[in-house]
Amino acid sequence: TDQVRLVGLTRTYGSGTSTVHALRGVRASFASGSFTAVMGPSGSGKSTLLQCAAGLDRPTSGQVFLGDREIGNLSENELTVLRRTRIGFVFQAFNLLPSLTAEQNVELPLRLAGRRPARGGVRDALARVGLAEQARRRPDALSGGQQQRVSLARALITRPDVLFADEPTGALDTNTSREVLELMSEVVRDTGMTLIMVTHDPVAASYADRVLFLVDGQVHTEVRGAGAREIA
Ligand code: ADP
Ligand code: ADP
Repeated sequence: TDQVRLVGLTRTYGSGTSTVHALRGVRASFASGSFTAVMGPSGSGKSTLLQCAAGLDRPTSGQVFLGDREIGNLSENELTVLRRTRIGFVFQAFNLLPSLTAEQNVELPLRLAGRRPARGGVRDALARVGLAEQARRRPDALSGGQQQRVSLARALITRPDVLFADEPTGALDTNTSREVLELMSEVVRDTGMTLIMVTHDPVAASYADRVLFLVDGQVHTEVRGAGAREIA
């Protein structure tokens, strides 16, 4: 089944002579348990696609379906609830709160969703990303790779249907990138979660089972499987 579906997705910024067509009628489906990398030159619309698919930005026209729900007509409040309960995010700059420990950072999405953290649940999530020993540390006492693994545990703690990753390896060296990517691939395999990752990094894209190349706001090429790994 398709967890995310984009139909004629169009996003235009500005108006008149300064109109920018960031997305021009993108059609794409993302199956449950699939890992897609979105690549393309700077300005090709990757971030806009991610923002619209994640309900952080509204399309100018076209539709975004999460499951069988069209999210374009949801109110701001409904979108916020959706993001907190069904969607996880991983960012290039980790975006951890510096004053909170690893454990407190991971627990935060549960609190925001109004859910009581299950006993041991946060510790289990940290253990899964190999950070059981670092639970009480603050981000500045962790390496970049460790911070990204905390942010992965944080993204997964609500058991989202879809995980969006925006240049997740952009601030990591190659070996550390591979560790994080292997974890993310494992999560997709084990949970059936849908992973959509924007990246410039060929190493990161080589972990995906499909690569969508955007050019000038449109899907220019779609490559699946081993071909995706070669081209990336
Ligand atoms: P990418 O992520 O591939 O670099 P973006 O989605 O950021 O591409 O941008 C696509 C196009 O839309 C670019 O021309 C960019 O300048 C423009 N754009 C993106 N966000 C805005 C905005 N908030 N206001 C105006 N133009 C924007
Ligand atoms: P269940 O067995 O009930 O399906 P899991 O034990 O698989 O649940 O997952 C528990 C939590 O840990 C979920 O939030 C899930 O998204 C998350 N998770 C699953 N696999 C991983 C992993 N490899 N790394 C980090 N978190 C994970």
